Amino acid sequence: MSLSLIGRSIKASATLRLNEIAAILREKGEPVIHLGGGEPKSKAPLEALVAASNLINSGEVRYTPADGIPQLKKAIIRYTEEYYDRLVEPENVIASSGAKQAIMVCLQAILNPQEEVIFPAPYWVSYPEMVKLCGGVPVPVFPEDGTFYPRLKDIEERVTSYTKAIIINSPNNPTGAMYSEEFIASIVEFCEKRGLYLIMDDIYHRLIFDGRKPINCYKYAKDLSENSKLVVINGVSKMYAMTGFRIGWAVANKKLIEAMTNIQAHQTSGPSVVTQVAAAAALNGPQTQVESLRITLENNRNIMMERLNAFKGVHAFKPDGTFYCFADFSYYEKDSIKLSQFLLDKVRVLTVPGIEFGLDGWLRLSTCGSVKDITEGIERIKWALDPDSPNELYIGERKLIRDWL
Ligand code: PMP
Repeated sequence: MSLSLIGRSIKASATLRLNEIAAILREKGEPVIHLGGGEPKSKAPLEALVAASNLINSGEVRYTPADGIPQLKKAIIRYTEEYYDRLVEPENVIASSGAKQAIMVCLQAILNPQEEVIFPAPYWVSYPEMVKLCGGVPVPVFPEDGTFYPRLKDIEERVTSYTKAIIINSPNNPTGAMYSEEFIASIVEFCEKRGLYLIMDDIYHRLIFDGRKPINCYKYAKDLSENSKLVVINGVSKMYAMTGFRIGWAVANKKLIEAMTNIQAHQTSGPSVVTQVAAAAALNGPQTQVESLRITLENNRNIMMERLNAFKGVHAFKPDGTFYCFADFSYYEKDSIKLSQFLLDKVRVLTVPGIEFGLDGWLRLSTCGSVKDITEGIERIKWALDPDSPNELYIGERKLIRDWL
């Protein structure tokens, strides 16, 4: 079969593939614990559900403007004012089918072939593939000091005449690291000075712990005119537990939003009107669910850290936010794909191999399930890896006997 260069070079989404594996195994009655997921288990806000079902019941389910319905754009403008202290106009906003599409059309609107996009590593699995889809070159940057907190110096050293944009995702998927106010201030200033686009992927910005407050990148921008190359990405997937609704957005200068809208118009048209009204209702509704999700995640993070800290040979990075925990398992196995597959085969625990995020030997463990998922999941992993564990483990009625250590 003849496939294009792009068709051949783009990898499957590891995280989406894992969701499918988990679903298939569960369907077969396998006692799978899914620590690989990237979505909260809570229900979508009631207002969102009511708004969506009212629209469906009306029978008037139509196309929308390519950049989103005015009602949703208005809610996004209000959100931007509340959380970023910035008043933008409808022409500064595009609603897309998920933050994923908002980032994708943004990259399509700014990148020429061979232009480079820098992002700190470990990184969200889709950044390199999205850049490649646009004919660009992904440039992941590992902080040289071995931490998960990038320094301007590390990024600066990788900037070339081909560099077009920098993507910053804080708190970060997969590490949960929330970058400091100083770092955000310095990167905003640096991009302004060098004329680079700065794409702030803020999809987890309110899911942060230990009394931290969301960081507002606009606070450090000197140029807030229509020449600004600062792009803020956000969405309802994570904070409002609305992953399946597929609504995200971008706020940027009007010219860029217009170009993104033109691309989106031919790509998918506007997002589904049903989910746009739902997203608007979630953004305008009481925000108690976001806060209760945040509290649950902080508690889950604490439990996950407690369990991992008691796990000989494992070093876990303490997340500042998100619903991921990134842990170094290289003491047991340096090949993270092999390790992840081993854990799935032997004890039916799903994890995401660190190599998918650019760092082998590590696993991403999700904290968005129940406390039972976390404690039992880590217990099973420990049993599978630690030679000091007893020889047998019960998973429900099933007795496992360890014959590999
Ligand atoms: N950015 C990051 C860092 C993410 O983790 C995700 C979802 N995994 C997205 C963007 C995309 O989110 P959405 O569901 O809105 O497309």
